[in-house]
Amino acid sequence: MLFKALVEHFEKLEATTSRLAMIDILVHLFSETPPNLMDKVVYLTLGEVYPSYVGLEVGLADKLVLRAVVLATGIPDLKVEQEYKALGDSGLVAEKLLSTKRKATLFSQPLTVEKVYITLEKMCRISGEGAQDTKIKLFAGLLTDSTPKEAKYLSRIVSGRLRLGVAEMTILDALAVAYGGSRELRDTIERAYNITSDIGLIAKTLAEGGIDAVKNIKIAIGRPIKPQLAERLSSLDEILEKLNGRCIAEYKYDGLRIQAHIADGAVILFSRRQENITEQFPDIVEALKKCVVANEAILDGEAVPVDPNTGELLPFQVVAQRRRKYDIERYAEEIPVTLFLFDILYLDGEDLTVKPYLERKKLLESVIKETDRVKLAQYIVSGNPEEIERFFHKSIEEGTEGLICKSILPNSIYEAGKRGWQWIKWKRSYRSEMTDTVDLVAVGAFAGRGKRAGTYGALLMAAYNSDKDRFETVCKLGSGFTDEDLAKLPEMFKPYLINHKHPRVESSIEADYWFVPVIVAEVIGDEITLSPMHTCGFEAIRPKSGLAIRFPRLVRFREDKSAEDATTTTEIIEMYRMQLKTIEETTPTDTA
Ligand code: AMP
Repeated sequence: MLFKALVEHFEKLEATTSRLAMIDILVHLFSETPPNLMDKVVYLTLGEVYPSYVGLEVGLADKLVLRAVVLATGIPDLKVEQEYKALGDSGLVAEKLLSTKRKATLFSQPLTVEKVYITLEKMCRISGEGAQDTKIKLFAGLLTDSTPKEAKYLSRIVSGRLRLGVAEMTILDALAVAYGGSRELRDTIERAYNITSDIGLIAKTLAEGGIDAVKNIKIAIGRPIKPQLAERLSSLDEILEKLNGRCIAEYKYDGLRIQAHIADGAVILFSRRQENITEQFPDIVEALKKCVVANEAILDGEAVPVDPNTGELLPFQVVAQRRRKYDIERYAEEIPVTLFLFDILYLDGEDLTVKPYLERKKLLESVIKETDRVKLAQYIVSGNPEEIERFFHKSIEEGTEGLICKSILPNSIYEAGKRGWQWIKWKRSYRSEMTDTVDLVAVGAFAGRGKRAGTYGALLMAAYNSDKDRFETVCKLGSGFTDEDLAKLPEMFKPYLINHKHPRVESSIEADYWFVPVIVAEVIGDEITLSPMHTCGFEAIRPKSGLAIRFPRLVRFREDKSAEDATTTTEIIEMYRMQLKTIEETTPTDTA
């Protein structure tokens, strides 16, 4: 197939903004494309060489494209640069300068799609020393054989800026029209795309083997499945109504979506957008190797940073720092993440996306041996609004964004790539802020691990209930300590260490060490939340709920204060109410 034919369609696509016109142009293009080239034509139309999950791009910067133009035309550097300054687009420069050199290209071979594609593939795969020069030479070779128009589009492809305005969904529509046009065909094509993330594969399979061949395309290890997404509703009643009165209510972890492919001990990780992020999470890779009891599996989950000392979740921003190219090992150690798995899509050759959610859950639980680094997402199966609401508050206090309520009906299959009513998120409609610090009493501690081995990992902190003259827990404090602070903790608490909970301490959490309540610390947190775990203000706001400080950090120790000078339970309850009031003034709907 002549590259010229493809370029003629590119020109037409570029000239229209109408989706319907685009579909017509694409249908025409497909009718002129030999079936075995369909994948390549589709990738090139999207300005790519491979499906994006492969992660290989030509990536020739504008400056390098210009150097190839110099090589191909013999026009001096300076002149090429002047043109670039005037036109601002290396594609236009290539087009203009090649037309002034038309004679030189007269005897060349016309470019074919095959030739272009093979050359671009080579350019994608070159690496190491001298790679850049080789890429430029290969590209200059293509330019030598191209017409000015071809040169324009080629330059845009190699610099990653083809931008014809063609979306993947438009290509799927065009494929459906080109091969028969029914709604069912469109759905089959889209599903095949959503379970493979490879639009070229779908196009070629359809062209070569028809719709039956597309129906036969299977999930495969190494090819990411587009993730299922959630709708949103702000009231639990509406959610339960949509889900037929009963659902799986699951923690909505605030981290990074990860799809893990495991085959014979090898692991590949994909992001929500199907990028290969395996190298950025060596700790997750290692952990998965040990905890999955299956030869092949595809798992869906969320990676969340976890405080190694308290085991509590950390804010999302912390995990974002793990998406990096350098210092990967160091960051893996400093910011450990835990992968919370909630779904299984494939197991030892079987496509599980067509099974209902409860069945997938059972299979997931049967193949995962939980560790610190890989856990199962927390959930309850319930139709009781009060129970779900309590679970919601527990999840918020533990550092999540809320819940995702998921259908457990027989048709609750995994809808790859779809945002639908099978999954409904229930997040808080507000995010409040704690502006003031509080003074809390250390009543217990947890043993440190890793870098904190030998000292305490976190302190159990309490507010003072002056009516009952006792101390009620309100958070685990593990952040904000300097190394110096940490080192001196055991010494500092030694005089107050006792081997049981102090009679004036009210706690439903079991600490590793207990103290006489003496030492006071000033603490700041993100906000005050309802909590079934802590005893501060228990049932003052909600049945079976106390209050907790979310994401607490140490400001300093307050040697000047005695335990009875600490912030009181009444004050914490008041702070919580004030928080709510500020929220009500700014947002009418709140869920607490
Ligand atoms: P959103 O990004 O607000 O549309 O929420 C959907 C995202 O929540 C998903 O893409 C996941 O990254 C994340 N998530 C966290 N926990 C879960 C869970 N239990 N089930 C599904 N998605 C979850």
